[in-house]
Amino acid sequence: MPTNERPVCLTIAGLDPSGGAGIVADIKTFTAFGCYAGAAVSSVTFQNTTGVFGAVHQTAESVRMQVQPVLDDFEVAAIKTGMLPTKEIIEETARLVKGSNCQNIVIDPVVRSTSGFDLIDDAALQVLMEILFPIALIVTPNRPEAERICGFTIDNDEDIVSAGEKILALGPHSVLIKGGHAVAAANKAVDHLFTADGSVRFEREFIRSSSTHGTGCTLSAAIAANLALGKELLDAVRIAKDFVFEEIRSAKQLGKGHSPVNIPPSWPME
Ligand code: PLP
Repeated sequence: MPTNERPVCLTIAGLDPSGGAGIVADIKTFTAFGCYAGAAVSSVTFQNTTGVFGAVHQTAESVRMQVQPVLDDFEVAAIKTGMLPTKEIIEETARLVKGSNCQNIVIDPVVRSTSGFDLIDDAALQVLMEILFPIALIVTPNRPEAERICGFTIDNDEDIVSAGEKILALGPHSVLIKGGHAVAAANKAVDHLFTADGSVRFEREFIRSSSTHGTGCTLSAAIAANLALGKELLDAVRIAKDFVFEEIRSAKQLGKGHSPVNIPPSWPME
């Protein structure tokens, strides 16, 4: 498809120079679905598959100076946010998103890397919940993120329902609580999508793998890409889950630590 016929997706997220997570993973995912990828950096992180060693965050102004010209120039079909490390960046991102015509807003509330590095502090997370959640079409926390947002542990289905309702009450149109972090009973990975109409369960086989670096980023980017392509929310989530399942299933070890997922060059794969 020629460039000018592809829907434009924009990510505002962190840079992982090893390419497993953050904007590099988002760009690869948008591209796999045939979308045109734009990317603004919220933080330059220093990492490889063995861990995150530090980060230099952008300022609110530098995020605005990256994003505003893109919004002025392109009709952006979907915006996805990932790591937004400071209150100032979150406030600026909310202003930019509100000022755009874009309705397909995917907020991935990135809190901590698998290796335990904090990618946001408590005060900033509070602001993220207060001002970005209400303008989101979908918020995509994993289980530890949902626990941090809700302030209680999630041990069973009832807790997941309580968490889904609590996050929905913060104002997003929908919430996807991802179950991959729970060592699932009966080897199932179960995600729950909550909207005002109720909840939908997505169940897949749980793949025991250490090649999961970037799963959260690529899932939310795949949802954004499919919304940009005009898919309904439920279909976008279903397609994104199939994509991530295949990424984990087909991943081969790369690097010495938590290997990145295997983002295919195009999807569905030929
Ligand atoms: N680095 C960046 C820039 C990220 O955005 C994220 C997650 O969203 C991570 C690292 C953590 O990824 P993982 O938990 O898959 O290692």
